[in-house]
Amino acid sequence: MTETPSLPAMPPSFEQLGLPAELLATLAEVGYETPSPIQAACIPHLLAGRDLLGEAQTGTGKTAAFALPILARLDLSSLRPQALVLTPTRELALQVAEAFGKYAHHLRDFHVLPIYGGQSMVIQLRQLARGAQVIVGTPGRVMDHIERGSLKLDGLATLVLDEGDEMLRMGFIDDVEWILEHTPENRQTALFSATMPTAIREVARRHLREPEEIHIRAATSTVAKIRQCHWLVRGVDKLDALTRILDAEERLDAAIVFVRTKIGTEELADKLAARGYAAAALNGNMTQGLRERTIEQLKNGALDIVVATDVAARGIDVPRISHVINYDIPYDTEAYIHRIGRTGRAGREGVAILFVAPRERRMLKTIERAIRQPIEAIALPSREDVSTLRISQFKQKVLDTLANPDAAPSFFVDVIDEIIEENDLDPREIAAALAYLVQAERPLRIGEENPQPEPVSMARRYDRPPREEIFTTGAPRERAPRPGREEILTRRGAFTDSKLQRYRIALGRDHGITPKEIVGALANEGGIEGRFIGQIDLFDDFSTIELPASLSADLLAALGRILVRYRPLGIRPLDKNETLPARRFQASGPRRDERPSGKPRTRPAGHQGHESARSFSPRSEHPGTSAGKKHAKAWGKHPKKK
Ligand code: ADP
Ligand code: MG
Repeated sequence: MTETPSLPAMPPSFEQLGLPAELLATLAEVGYETPSPIQAACIPHLLAGRDLLGEAQTGTGKTAAFALPILARLDLSSLRPQALVLTPTRELALQVAEAFGKYAHHLRDFHVLPIYGGQSMVIQLRQLARGAQVIVGTPGRVMDHIERGSLKLDGLATLVLDEGDEMLRMGFIDDVEWILEHTPENRQTALFSATMPTAIREVARRHLREPEEIHIRAATSTVAKIRQCHWLVRGVDKLDALTRILDAEERLDAAIVFVRTKIGTEELADKLAARGYAAAALNGNMTQGLRERTIEQLKNGALDIVVATDVAARGIDVPRISHVINYDIPYDTEAYIHRIGRTGRAGREGVAILFVAPRERRMLKTIERAIRQPIEAIALPSREDVSTLRISQFKQKVLDTLANPDAAPSFFVDVIDEIIEENDLDPREIAAALAYLVQAERPLRIGEENPQPEPVSMARRYDRPPREEIFTTGAPRERAPRPGREEILTRRGAFTDSKLQRYRIALGRDHGITPKEIVGALANEGGIEGRFIGQIDLFDDFSTIELPASLSADLLAALGRILVRYRPLGIRPLDKNETLPARRFQASGPRRDERPSGKPRTRPAGHQGHESARSFSPRSEHPGTSAGKKHAKAWGKHPKKK
């Protein structure tokens, strides 16, 4: 086992690692001066043909650690696949393939081929037939091609598993093992992972031969270049806090803001855009093309802020990301480490800020333990600080504009002259009016921001296009045909003045269902508006819901067939004699957050948000409370504080 000493006094040079001249030339061109610790530790073993198990955090230069020795050992006179790299996502497959292309700049007749799901099969088959020495792919698609015989691996010399822990998390481990079993036994295997859960160790034990083990401690990785801090959410709502940070952080170039849900990315990106930031969402509902364009825009400066989910942002390598904001705290420490690794790229410095709600303090402690260092607490910049900063930026912008010879042609001077003459005005008044207009989106005096628009009503909310989020967490599924408008109106008419009654739904907390999904499914696919839905209570393996008593048997059967999380809702009236187990979390009035004694359940994987721990009523029961406001609260959003 090789323990890399913390900060070796003299790192070896790439020459000393034994890389060939063509690769050394490229490395000089791309500006890599010295190997990173993982590269220094891995390259000699991989060049010698050894198997390898590498644990190193993200951003430590793992790609070159395996790509360079693979390139050094290829037989370029043959187009048979000689190396296969498996990555958990298509983004990573593309990124790794791109890196191979970059490092192989001076190698003639080199071909690398990324293959991943979602790409046209016809094109892939043609490309595979043409041949490539290196294949980079996601497990599912690679399996497809092995089974079809379109990917022949009998000449495979090296297999790399990149981001092993992520493969595990995404459920690819069986696929990976299947692939390992379908490649020549005498191949060289390298497994890289940011963390080493037991299941990954097991894969290594079964499929690696006397591997060299490399562990790179956080202190020697680029993570050391990331300043990590946290803000305890208190007094100010998170959106307000975020904009203050975005405004006041010096040296902020680009930021990636992490939230937990796909819908959350869009909501937050919209709000930031409405406040004048160049922000966009990045999530798994977006097409591959759109995601790539978004990342490209972040790279080239058309965007400054990307609001992303963990999965969508995985592995993104955009050197100008100076800040990572953990707007929603991550579910686990691995996710945290992957998130902050989006900054501090390529030797730059980075800042990671974690928002911690009071009840999330335990997670903060867990993360601190995992990274073996404290995450310092910070105070928010005050409104005055932000105002002062915005004013000085505004003044600078005016001066810059005056200094720009193209910016104030006589045309504008003429227009201003006309305003002065026609209205007998002081130029200062006009200037003030123009200043007001210019700053409207981002007011110079904080506290005067336009009030947040009312949250959209339930019906609108669930009319938004990327609805998959609400219903499923996994692969897309067949959508039941939506009822026609006529049908919806008839249904509605049928129970406008009907009393509510309790029904039983065949899905409960054990299925990972949330009240939001139930309401969403009934609204979208059943045509039942939120105002006809009463209280929802979740139990372990079923739920209850209040719906109009007058639902016809037909409609009930149709509603029961609606799929949520791949399962039919199976609605039926609740039998009067049916006894219900005590709810784990009581929800009534102001005591809503009170928890019963005993341990709270751990959240099932993929569970988003925390609303299922309570019961909900999407109906507006209190006159004077707008339905929208009530929902905003129930769904855990942050109503603006006055
Ligand atoms: P990981 O896979 O460990 O997350 P990457 O391979 O994506 O890390 O590398 C992170 C960044 O560091 C990339 O931008 C890469 O170009 C850069 N990089 C890799 N090796 C070196 C090096 N030896 N010197 C300078 N930059 C490097
Ligand atoms: Mg990587």
